[in-house]
This record gives sequence, C-alpha cells and structure tokens, in this order.
Amino acid sequence: MLLVCLTVLGLNAYYSPCAAAPPRDHSLHLKSVPPTSTRNKLLLISFDGFRWDYDRNTDTPHLDKMAEDGVKATYVTPSFITITSPSHFTMVTGRHIENHGVIHNMWFNTTTQERKQYYQTQFVDSYWDNGSLPIWITAQRQGLKTGSLHFPGTAATYRGETVMVRQVESPVYDYSDEADWRMNVDKVIGEWFNQQDLDFVSLYFGEPDLAGHKYGPDSPEVREMVKQVDRTIGYMRDKIQEQGLTERLNVIITTDHGMSTIFRGEQANQIILSKIPNFSFRDIQFQLLDYGSVGMLLPKEGKLEKVYQVLKGSHPHLHVYKKEEMPERLHYSKHPRLLPLILIADTGYIVNGFLPLNYNKGDHGFDNEALDMKAFFRAVGPDFHKNLLVDPFDMTDVYPLMCHLLGINPEVNDGHFDNVKRMLASEKLPEGDRVAENNTSMQVVTGLAVTVGFLALVFVVATSYNVWKKRRA
Ligand SMILES: [Zn+2]
Repeated sequence: MLLVCLTVLGLNAYYSPCAAAPPRDHSLHLKSVPPTSTRNKLLLISFDGFRWDYDRNTDTPHLDKMAEDGVKATYVTPSFITITSPSHFTMVTGRHIENHGVIHNMWFNTTTQERKQYYQTQFVDSYWDNGSLPIWITAQRQGLKTGSLHFPGTAATYRGETVMVRQVESPVYDYSDEADWRMNVDKVIGEWFNQQDLDFVSLYFGEPDLAGHKYGPDSPEVREMVKQVDRTIGYMRDKIQEQGLTERLNVIITTDHGMSTIFRGEQANQIILSKIPNFSFRDIQFQLLDYGSVGMLLPKEGKLEKVYQVLKGSHPHLHVYKKEEMPERLHYSKHPRLLPLILIADTGYIVNGFLPLNYNKGDHGFDNEALDMKAFFRAVGPDFHKNLLVDPFDMTDVYPLMCHLLGINPEVNDGHFDNVKRMLASEKLPEGDRVAENNTSMQVVTGLAVTVGFLALVFVVATSYNVWKKRRA
C-alpha cells in the first residue's frame, strides 16, 4: 500500500522491482508495508448515466444501506467529453481524454468518411491501444488476476494482451434486462471472484442511461430504472455475503456521466448548422454531428478560418473553438484525433447538421462543470471507512485509488491519490467527519444521556429532600 506514496514522493525508481517481482512475494517490502496476502479484491461497477443525484427523489434502500456501511461522494466530475467510451477509459486509466486518445464513442476516418458506431468501435484494437494501459493489463503484468464484463474497452487487445477473463456482449444485447443483470452478478461474484479467485473485475450495466435518453432524467421511467439498479445492488451485496466475500472484497460503484433534459419545441431555438447564414457543408471535408451536445468539423483545406468565423457567435447556445483554443480545464485539445473545430452546446441543446435528427429527451456529453453531468460514487468494503461523506473529486482520481487498493504500481496518470485517500479506513478522520445520519444518531445518544442524567439528579435531590424532611420530623 506504500507503492503510491513512494510514487508520489518520486521514489518510484527504488521500488520498481515490485512491478517485476511476483506481487504476492512481499519479502522485499519495507516494514510498514502490509503483507500482500491482506490485499483485498476489488470490484468496479459502472451503471451508465447514473447522475449524482438520482437517489434523491427515489426510494433506494440498498444504496442507502451501502452509504451507511461505506463511503458516499457528493459527486464525481467526469472528464470531458462526457460520453460512454471516453469516460470509462478515463476511469480505468486515470488519464484525461486528450491523453488516452479514446476521444469519442465513434471511430472515424476523415479520408474515407467511414464511421463505426459504439459497438463496432469496441473491436477496433488500434483505437483503444493507443498509449494508455487499462488497469486490467497493468494488474495482470504485476501478477494479479483480472476480469471484465461488458465494460467499455474489454474487447480490445492492448500491446498483445487482453484482460484474462472477459465477457463481451452480443450486438443485440438487451442492456436493461434485470434477470440478466442478476446472472452477471452471479457470474462475477460466484464464479470469477470466488471460484476463479480473481483480484479485480470491472462490471458494466447500460442503464439508467438508456431510460434517461428515451424519457428524460426526471421521468418516472428513470425512477423505475433507479429502483432496478437499487434492487441489483441489494442482490449483489447478499451474494457477496453468501459467498463469504464481505471482508475480502471492496466494491466501488460509479458511472461515466450524468444526464440533462433536452429542450424541445418552438422555444428551444435549436442549433442547426445548415441554417446558420454563410455556413456551407461544401466547406467541410468531414463532420461528426447529430451525436448530441458536441460536434467536430474538419474544414476543407484553406477553409478553417472562414468556417470558424461564420460559426463563432452564430447561436447563443453554441460555443465554437479551434481545438488549440479549447479551455485548458476541459483537457480536450491535445490529441491528434481531435478535429480542428470543436462545437459545444449549452446543456439542453444538441448540435445538429441539417435537421434536428436526435429525438432524445435526455442527453449528455456537455461541459463537465454542468451539475447535470456529475457522476454518482459509492464505495464499500474492508478498506473503506463506514458512514462517511466525502467532497467531490475527479474521475481521474479513481484510478490511483484502485491501484492503491490492489497494491499495484500505477501507470503514468492524471489522477491525484491525495484527493481520495480520505475514504480509506487506514486514514484517520478528523473529528466530526461522518455523514449526517450518524450525527443524528449521535444527537439521539447525547439527548438520551442528558435526559437520564437529569432524571438521576431529580431522583437524588428528591431522595435527599425526603431524608432531610424525615430527619427534621
Ligand atoms: Zn448515453
């Protein structure tokens, strides 16, 4: 567990034999390093599009119990662009999207005009294997056993290696089927962790993202899906208990992004590029539009400045950037795959080409500063504090947290372990750092103690008075 500290201190070089040595051999470890046999297993779960506040107006007894037994973050800030494949790859690499290069859900070729949708892109190795290693590969190289079920990036091969145990969904997979979710939980907990003794598994569920797109984030359908998520978490925790893993398995539940309501109808003032005066698709060599809140354009040679000037300021809810002018905080400008012009809509708007083709009532992809894009985070297990609420942190920070939990040496990453270490049981908490529920129970205890004390005092005074009266009589 000292690995990360040493890395932070720049002492990595002194510790590098760890990466090569069998990680269960801890004879070389310093005295303060706990034996690796105490290393617990880790399950990373993502429920796609589970906005940070989805548990607020829905009854979620299992999530509430999990928060009581573990750690809850106010929210997590995903990396920009807030969409599925880029954001999940940030989760398992700790890198900003401009650094890991999975810049979109879609693979595309600007010369041939070819595009591959989310599912097909999962099988384009070169798109994923692009300089950053996901935690599965890093952990395996350091002697751990890993698995991944449906998690974006699972299908790809990284420098000749794939995740040891994996399940990739079929192209017609139903991401919403609760019975299938339970089978996946049974497989991961019962077979992979218990029978095959894996150390790390990432597990992906495609909801409540789909319900959020179709019905909008504030719909009864989303609330129903949140209840389905909650039931699944209850089922999973029972399964963990039944398999005797409660004290050996840490569980992190998070997501790739939130969800925002899309404005519709006459008043919505839709963004449609073909309707913008002087804009012409004849100036464009390749475009990525009608895919939600962010669009990208490759203007034809010599047309960049013209297209930029035409689009900039053309719509009150459209932000137009040359990629090198993108706000630094978004970390979405440095990768060569990014096209020269990046268009970002305000929350509630979609960047359309010719027509408003996107009929979603909810969408994401927006600026990660928007509260609607913030992600959900919970953690429970032997290495986590109980009943603790922690402040927001970035999605990139989840990676160093996971490496620490697994006792592995992290790859170069953009996360900060210091932002998340507070949630670990090994870190001493300052007084008064528990969540509200705990404070309430403390108040109840204090109140009871005061009442009992007061009654005792009344009893003593009354008894003494009676004794005094009797003596006087
Ligand atoms: Zn989505």
